[in-house]
Amino acid sequence: MDTVSLSGKELAAAINADTKARAAALTEDAAAPRLALIVANDDPASAWYVNSLRKAAERLGIACDTVDLGADATVAAIRAELSARGEDRGTDAIMLQTPLPAGVTLDDVSSAIVATKDVDGVSPLSLGLLAAGLDGFVPATSEAVVELLDHHEIPLAGRHVAVVGRSNIVGKPLAQLLLAKDATVTVCHSRTADLAAVTAAADVVVAAAGRIGLISGKHIREDAVVIDVGTNEAPDGKIVGDVEADSVRGKAAGLSPVPGGVGPVTTALLMRHVVTAAETSRQN
Ligand code: NAD
Repeated sequence: MDTVSLSGKELAAAINADTKARAAALTEDAAAPRLALIVANDDPASAWYVNSLRKAAERLGIACDTVDLGADATVAAIRAELSARGEDRGTDAIMLQTPLPAGVTLDDVSSAIVATKDVDGVSPLSLGLLAAGLDGFVPATSEAVVELLDHHEIPLAGRHVAVVGRSNIVGKPLAQLLLAKDATVTVCHSRTADLAAVTAAADVVVAAAGRIGLISGKHIREDAVVIDVGTNEAPDGKIVGDVEADSVRGKAAGLSPVPGGVGPVTTALLMRHVVTAAETSRQN
């Protein structure tokens, strides 16, 4: 069977065109939408990602402040910056970059991000709104998976989706979004007893574990759709996903590539959230 490549590039371009027009309208009206990117690490992968977000923002007419608190920032310092940005009328959107300093968890600081500016949906309030099926910002990566499936017209209602990974920023919110689409969802994790047995029973498998090659041909059934969220650095420095593409290609009906699948859609949705946050705050 020919496996279709479920690219995210076309979808990302369509989202970006809309975002750019909305950002231009806001700029004409008052000022460019403004995102504050809060960094507290000296991780090269994070620096690369922050740079790519800055470039994406610039291309779309979104202003971006990077605030580097240093890799030894305390919980109090991070919370203080997040709160200050929450109160700052000139800041429309806030994103806290991970990893955080040693000994600081996202749970220690995320409640300091005001939900109206929480464009990556990481605060407990945003996550609670999602779980309750109420309006709020949704973690962009999880939303990107669902949007990518919709874009490629892959039905979800009544179908069995296995999500591999249960983090608060990818696996768990994704499970909520899939439930809202009427899918039957199984969430797998590092303690799942027989991963292959669960994933091979699913119509759609989403790999979000951050483990190179975790999902191979033996983990999927013939004709399954596979979405690869993983972004891992291989020993040769290349960015690779969680899916062993060689053994999955030819068996799956569709596979999202890494790079070029979930990644560009995630960035596009984040930027869309920034513009939405700005539009909402300026109406109030
Ligand atoms: P995380 O480390 O917080 O969580 C990983 C999850 O995978 C955990 O719930 C763990 O239980 C599960 N897991 C680990 N090993 C497993 C195994 N052997 N079998 C089954 N489950 C296992 O990671 P995260 O922040 O959720 O990110 C997951 C992946 O997604 C990473 O590769 C990350 O880089 C990537 N990511 C991509 C984007 C994007 O835009 N494409 C955005 C965010 C994260």
